[in-house]
Order: sequence, then structure tokens, then C-alpha cells
Amino acid sequence: MSEKENIITIDGPAGVGKSTVSRRVAAATGFAYLDTGAMYRAVGLYLKRHAIDLDNPKEIAYILKTLRLELVPAVNEHSDVGVFINGEDVSDPIRTPEMAMIASRVSAVPVVRDILTEIQRGYGKKGKIVAEGRDTGTVVFPDAAYKFFLDAKPEERARRRVEQLQKKGIAASLQQILELTLERDKNDRSRSVAPLKQADDALLIDTTTITLEAVVLRILGEIAKKDGR
Ligand code: C5P
Repeated sequence: MSEKENIITIDGPAGVGKSTVSRRVAAATGFAYLDTGAMYRAVGLYLKRHAIDLDNPKEIAYILKTLRLELVPAVNEHSDVGVFINGEDVSDPIRTPEMAMIASRVSAVPVVRDILTEIQRGYGKKGKIVAEGRDTGTVVFPDAAYKFFLDAKPEERARRRVEQLQKKGIAASLQQILELTLERDKNDRSRSVAPLKQADDALLIDTTTITLEAVVLRILGEIAKKDGR
């Protein structure tokens, strides 16, 4: 099996169901799940805590080179991956809507993308992965054999996000989350480096009216078809 067949990419905007779908596809295929958004969130948290100027690429590069970022597989299919920075467990603090916006800002800084992209490619070299994010099919793993792009109407994505946050005990209003989701999409789609977009060879799946279970089955079916099974 070549390196290409070792990688499944699942990209799309916020709240489209990527994480749940990616986790389930990983569980079904036996591939490891790589949550690239968690990496941008962790870096965002770290830079914010240390009040690092986002317009100072040299300082950011220095900080990131010395930062120890660890991802730990989720304990079950309902929980997020564990994220540690310099040994500190930041798995919960990175999941707030505020941190999502900070991650979006930080993710537009070229040096941050360069460093995280390298780390993500390192995971790809180590074994079979389901990589989830915004640019995994376009920039991080352009040669991946299996690429998917999920999309859904913004109102439905905001509704799902509110439900997800409420399950974690984080209060959120639909209107507020819709506005944040639209703003984050705009930032992610319009940035000059690695913007959110569908790779030419990715399969688009609209998840607005179908269950995430159906999305998973569709993805597994497409992979089997490509493999000639
Ligand atoms: O997927 P998640 O919502 O955790 O991502 C948080 C933010 O990190 C996104 O809004 C996006 O700005 C950034 N991100 C990115 N590239 C990725 C994954 C996430 O720019 N591959």
C-alpha cells in the first residue's frame, strides 16, 4: 500500500459534522484520527496566554519551535482527542467558541501554518490516518487517495454546534453561534494561505439533511469502491 492509500482527508467548514464523521471513519477503518483543528486551537490558546503579537512571525516561530504539542487519542467515540501543551492538559479550554475564533485568527498566520503542516505530515508518515480540517486535502496531503469535503447550510451547522456545546455544559445561543460560524467561515475561506476550499479531487457531501451515520457509510462505500472491493 502506498503512502497515498494511508491517508483519508475530511475537510469542510465549522459545524458540518467533520469530527464525528472522522472519528467514526477512523474507528471503522482502523486508521488513527488526526484532528488538525485541535492543533490550531492549542497554538491559539498558547499564543493568547503569552500575549504574543500575531504580527511578529519571528517570535511566533521561536515560541512554536520550543512548544511541545501532544495529541492523545480520544477515550471513546463521543469524546474529543486529548490535547497537551508542554505537558498541560488543555483539552477542555480549547473547545470554547472564543478559542475557535482565536484559532481562526492564528491559523491565518503563515508561520503557524508552516509549522503545523510539517507536524501533520509527520503523522502521515508514521501510519494510516484520517486527517480532518480545512486544508488537509488541498495543502497538507494533496496526494491522499481518499478525499472528502463536507458542507451544510449555515443554520444547520450552527444548530449542531449549539447542541454539541450544550452537551459539554457550555451555554450558547443559536443566533450568537450562527454569527460566529459565519465569521469564522469568512476568515477561513478568504485567508491568503491554505484557505478553506474543496480540493478538485475531493468528493463533496452535503450533510444538511442526512444523518452523520449516512455520511460515514457513504465515505466507507466510496473508499471500498476506490479500492475495488
Ligand atoms: O475544526 P476546528 O473548528 O477545531 O478548527 C478551529 C479553527 O482552526 C478553524 O476555524 C480554522 O481557522 C483553523 N483550522 C485551519 N486549518 C485546519 C484546521 C483548522 O485553519 N486544517
